[in-house]
Amino acid sequence: MTTALLEDRTRDALWPGPVIDCDVHAVVPSLETLFPYQERIWVDAARERGFHGPAGLALTYPPALPTTARTEWRPADGSVPASTLDQLRRDILDPWRVDRAILNCYYAIDSLRHPDWAIAMARSVNDWIIDQWLDREPRLAASLVIPARDPVAAAQEIDRVGGHKGFVQVLLPVRSERLYGQRVFWPLFEAIERNGLVAGLHWGGLAEHGPTPTGYASWYVEEYAEEPQVFGAQLTSMIVEGLFQKFPALRVSILEGGFTWLPTWAWNLNKKWKGLRREFPWVDRLPSEIIRDHFRFSTAPADMGPPEQMRRILGWLGTDDLLMHASDYPHLHTDDLAALLGIMPDAMRANVMAETARRWYRL
Ligand code: ZN
Repeated sequence: MTTALLEDRTRDALWPGPVIDCDVHAVVPSLETLFPYQERIWVDAARERGFHGPAGLALTYPPALPTTARTEWRPADGSVPASTLDQLRRDILDPWRVDRAILNCYYAIDSLRHPDWAIAMARSVNDWIIDQWLDREPRLAASLVIPARDPVAAAQEIDRVGGHKGFVQVLLPVRSERLYGQRVFWPLFEAIERNGLVAGLHWGGLAEHGPTPTGYASWYVEEYAEEPQVFGAQLTSMIVEGLFQKFPALRVSILEGGFTWLPTWAWNLNKKWKGLRREFPWVDRLPSEIIRDHFRFSTAPADMGPPEQMRRILGWLGTDDLLMHASDYPHLHTDDLAALLGIMPDAMRANVMAETARRWYRL
C-alpha cells in the first residue's frame, strides 16, 4: 500500500528497516471536543463569550493552506485532518508500519492571555491526548502541552501528567515571550529534567514580538521562510545562558525547524565563544559539542537542495546521530525523502529512520 510521502514507492523500497516517526500531529477538531476534560467554569466562559478556541492556531496553521494538510490527508467528509486516531492509523501508522510515532498537538495555548484559562486548556488537551490517543494506541508516544507564558504553572502541569508512560516530551512553541535560556524559564526545564522528558521546540507560538528579528512580515510565507532564525536564537540562548550546565541531563529536540542552517550557525557560535567566552565563562566547551550532546533535529522540513550540496551539509553535521525522521503528518513539505536517504551513508540512514529517536526518547 502506498500513501502520501511514499508516492509511487513501496515502503520497503524506500526503507526496509524500522521506522520511528518523531513528529506526527494530533489536531483538536473543536473546542467542544475538550469540554469533557474541562471544569464547568471554562465551558460556561467559552459559551457565554462565543469563544471557539485559541486564536493563534489559525495563524500558525491556516486551515485551508496547502502546507497545513496534504490533499491526500484531507478527509473526504470535510472533517478536520489529523483529528482522530483512525485517520492517523490509516494515513501513517499502518502504511509505514511505524514502530513508534511521537504525537504533537499544537493548540496555540500560548495565544491565550488569561492565566487560569491557559492552564485549564493545557490540562484538557493533555487529558484528551491520554484518553483518545495514548491509552488506545501502543505505537504512540506524545508531547504534553503547557501554558507557555507561565513557567511555574507549566512545571506544575509537567509534574501532574509527566509520569504517564506515554509522555516523552514537552512541546514548547518556538516563538516565546522571552528566550527560553533565560532564568525565568528554569523551573520549566527543571521539571522537564526531573520527569525524564525531552524539551521539544516546535514551530508555532504567538509572542508579543514580531515573528522576525526585525518585526512583522507582510506575508505568511515570510514568517515560514524566516523561522530558522527563531530556532537559532533559542538554541543560542539555551547554550549561552548555561542551561546545560544547570541541567546536565536536559535534551532538546528541534522539530519542524529544519537543520540545513545548523552547521554555519554552529561555526559562528564557536567563533564567538572563542573570542567572547570571558562574558559567559560557565560555557566551558565549544557550542558545537554542546549541540551534539543536547540537541537532535527532525528531518522535516529538510529544505532539500541539490543532492551533491546536501551531501556536504550532512557531512558538516559531523555526526550520524543528530537527525530523526519525521513525516510531520499532516503538513505538506515538498521534501524528497528518497533523495535524502539516497545521499546518506548506511549507518546514518538506520539512525535517522529509527535508532537515534529510539535512544533519544528511550523508546
Ligand atoms: Zn510538526
